[in-house]
Amino acid sequence: MLKIGLTGGIGSGKSTVAKLLREAGYPVVDADQVARDNMEPGSPVLAEVAEAFGADIVRDDGSLDRAELARRAFSDEERTRTLNAITHPAIRAESNRRFAELETQGAAAAVYDMPLLVELGLDEEMDLTIVVDVHPDERVRRLVSSRGLDEQDARNRISRQISDAERRAKADVVIDNNGSLEELKQQVNEVVSRIGKML
Ligand code: ATP
Repeated sequence: MLKIGLTGGIGSGKSTVAKLLREAGYPVVDADQVARDNMEPGSPVLAEVAEAFGADIVRDDGSLDRAELARRAFSDEERTRTLNAITHPAIRAESNRRFAELETQGAAAAVYDMPLLVELGLDEEMDLTIVVDVHPDERVRRLVSSRGLDEQDARNRISRQISDAERRAKADVVIDNNGSLEELKQQVNEVVSRIGKML
């Protein structure tokens, strides 16, 4: 089964491209969804996180208090590393499990929608790496208008990520999403025909 990595900075349009690829017939493993599923009430990952960050980050109903975890984990680098050391291997394991399941079901190709694909070196494991690229100023505009993020918050989040140039350097395909949604669809169509030729 062909593995197609899909990544890009925050607000670049990964989810939009993932949706188009799904519509083209390729199943998608969504790493953000995997991360949320891994922290469902009663999950071993949630138990590990509670052990490291305090039992009170789990609410009475067993669900994770995300805002409180973010406050505790992202306040310094050491704590962020502690959280990542628990969550990243778990996301990787569960993602691999989902890929194996798709392969068993007979999928010819599957997409990995993963914001940290390049940061974690997982692009090396993909047969094709797609990077969605948009100028940071435009991403800020989209994040503010569509996601209601505060402008400074959007800029801070972008500046904490690796640079667009570092991401592009690992790409087999760069999708330029600075333009319209129509232009994005055309580029995705080209990628779809490239994938078709690889099968
Ligand atoms: P995140 O990193 O936060 O998960 P993402 O990379 O998945 O974001 P999307 O959610 O796909 O990005 O896109 C961010 C926002 O920009 C969405 O509201 C989306 O509808 C919008 N958007 C994506 N592409 C375009 C475009 N070409 N023109 C205008 N708006 C766009």
